[in-house]
Amino acid sequence: MSFTKELKEEILQKEQGKDCCNLAELAGIIAFSSTIKNGYLKITIENKFVARRIVKLLKRLLDIQAGIEVKAGGGVRKNDTFIISVREFAKLLNGISMINKEGSLCFPQKSAENPCCKKAFIKGAFLGGGSMSHPQKRYHLEFVTHYPEICEGFNLFLEDMEFAAKAVERKGKFVTYFKDCDSICNLLAIAGASLGVMKIYQEKVYKDKKNEINRLNNSEVANIMKTVTASTDQRACIEKIQRTAGLESLPESLKKLAEVRLKYPDDGLAQLGARLNPPIGKSGVNHRMRKIIEISKRY
Ligand SMILES: [Zn+2]
Repeated sequence: MSFTKELKEEILQKEQGKDCCNLAELAGIIAFSSTIKNGYLKITIENKFVARRIVKLLKRLLDIQAGIEVKAGGGVRKNDTFIISVREFAKLLNGISMINKEGSLCFPQKSAENPCCKKAFIKGAFLGGGSMSHPQKRYHLEFVTHYPEICEGFNLFLEDMEFAAKAVERKGKFVTYFKDCDSICNLLAIAGASLGVMKIYQEKVYKDKKNEINRLNNSEVANIMKTVTASTDQRACIEKIQRTAGLESLPESLKKLAEVRLKYPDDGLAQLGARLNPPIGKSGVNHRMRKIIEISKRY
């Protein structure tokens, strides 16, 4: 099941609320799923349960009778599409305040006005035209509508609720979207998908932890590995001298360094330098170590 489907089905399981809120929900759904063509308002939905809810709300709130037509999905995804056609759409648009005094289409501000109805409107918008990427992949929540007026009005409505939405036109449709995890979680929580929100946060914690470990792998572990490899090579050279000419054959300064190297195999060069008496810096140690390696090649 896609994550969007999972979220929508969670939202639909919640108790249904007051009539004013149900109307706001219906307005949200219609605003984000319908087109008007050839004397019909056509609601196109990919989720069977959302389609059933629309039919129920239309009947109960506005006394509009509508049936669901199923269009079998083609292509790879093969998802069925559910189409609800409404002939008395002036009654519907009036009922949800999606038409203004001049008779032109507008954002259904009036349906979404009451503080209690704002949440229901967002819920409806998500059910009608919302989708959310799987949080394992990325954070992207969007609401798609066919009407520029709706997109514009919705962005202002969201701004009023202190959500900073981004908007883009895509293939003749109008998209409001979010990419930051916190806004997405807040909006989905408002829409009633608290389990979904929990899942997003769990993924986020897991992702952050994984990134942290990757960073460790990339830099710190690489450095540790470099030190270990270098130390192994250096000790091999020192042991060769030890077996052949003996460490006594080395000048005093090199002999001291060779001894601490054997004693502290995990140390980096800077740490080794600090152990000498008098201590020397990393480049000094590097210089002496090269000499030791050079000498070892003679044996
Ligand atoms: Zn309400």
